[in-house]
Amino acid sequence: MAARVNSTAIRRVNRVRLFHALREHPNSSQTDLQRLTGLDRGTTSLVVAQLLEEGLLTRGEPTYPGRVGRPETALNIAPSAGIFVGARLEPSKVRIISTNLAGELLDRLDLPGSTDIYQSITLFREGLERITRSSGSNPAVRGIGVGVPGLMDRDGCLVLAPNLGWHRVPIRSLLQEGLEAPVYVDNDANAAAMAERLFGACKSCANFAYLSCHSGLGAGLFMEGRLFRGVHGFSGEIGHVTAVPNGRACGCGKWGCVETYVSEGGILRTLSERGRWFGNLADVAEAARQEDLIVLEVLNEVGQYLGMALSSLVNILNPEMVVLGGTLANVFEFLEGAMHKTMDVHVMPPLREVLRVILSPLGSEVVPMGGIALAMDGFISAPHLDTSLRPQPS
Ligand SMILES: [Zn+2]
Repeated sequence: MAARVNSTAIRRVNRVRLFHALREHPNSSQTDLQRLTGLDRGTTSLVVAQLLEEGLLTRGEPTYPGRVGRPETALNIAPSAGIFVGARLEPSKVRIISTNLAGELLDRLDLPGSTDIYQSITLFREGLERITRSSGSNPAVRGIGVGVPGLMDRDGCLVLAPNLGWHRVPIRSLLQEGLEAPVYVDNDANAAAMAERLFGACKSCANFAYLSCHSGLGAGLFMEGRLFRGVHGFSGEIGHVTAVPNGRACGCGKWGCVETYVSEGGILRTLSERGRWFGNLADVAEAARQEDLIVLEVLNEVGQYLGMALSSLVNILNPEMVVLGGTLANVFEFLEGAMHKTMDVHVMPPLREVLRVILSPLGSEVVPMGGIALAMDGFISAPHLDTSLRPQPS
């Protein structure tokens, strides 16, 4: 029994590896895929045959490897084999995108969000119908992935979003209701980390943290090649590390959490306490560019708080990279100096030397693309798909 489970798991890993190799290197031949995946010839041929049988690959024009021998057929992920839908649910906006099976963007749709989570779900369902219709003539939706700000448990229940007042919402089952395609839901930082791994800055990085800063601060931890979720799925709540003992009240019920100073709301609050009122961080960045000294001083302090929180994370987890995303990106250039200086002091030198801190290259698309990554991962590694792996008749 154990051997059978193992071989099923290995076949699944091989299938995932080959699919992603072809996604990243379109027009590859079987020889190319063998080289890219490290799989042997027989296994490569077997996985390709199954994916062809399922209609997930197409054969292109023959290519010539450059020396005497038989031409090889170029392979691609079939563009018409279906779509994935990814989304981010947040109070200010519901953003939905669709991609083909290779993860290439087909369409995007922004709808005004709602502070009522049930209303957000209704908006999402309307948007899903619209984007499915506009993504081609009746494409099969192969998977739907959604990133949500808040604590998501392993059963797809949104346990708590402290800044939004969302509490105990069985969000996956509500989103799944009446839909045939499987729905995957995760915390927005986890979804974003998956996007960085599959489509962004961390394609070849197995140990990194994605830091999401919007209304709160959270981290998606990608450790040793996979998402690290913790016992209940609540890992990465770096926003609730204490920055100031007995400091500001936090939505989580504690005091002085770092996100009460480093999130968008926290930064705007500090500025207002010093006589500067702004509606968002893009306007704050503009004032910083105009060299408003109060604004620059506040952003310097934010950089120190962020540097302290990241120092703890880096000392504990030893990541190769930290990728920052969310609205904090607007003002990052004005706080990164203080952040780096703080980390120089508080991170142990051998861990500091290998660390890179960068802004997400995926920008505001990162969480919806994370939804695509969750859907793609679920689809290509789905257990029902690899039960018939066997040699095809030639
Ligand atoms: Zn807190």
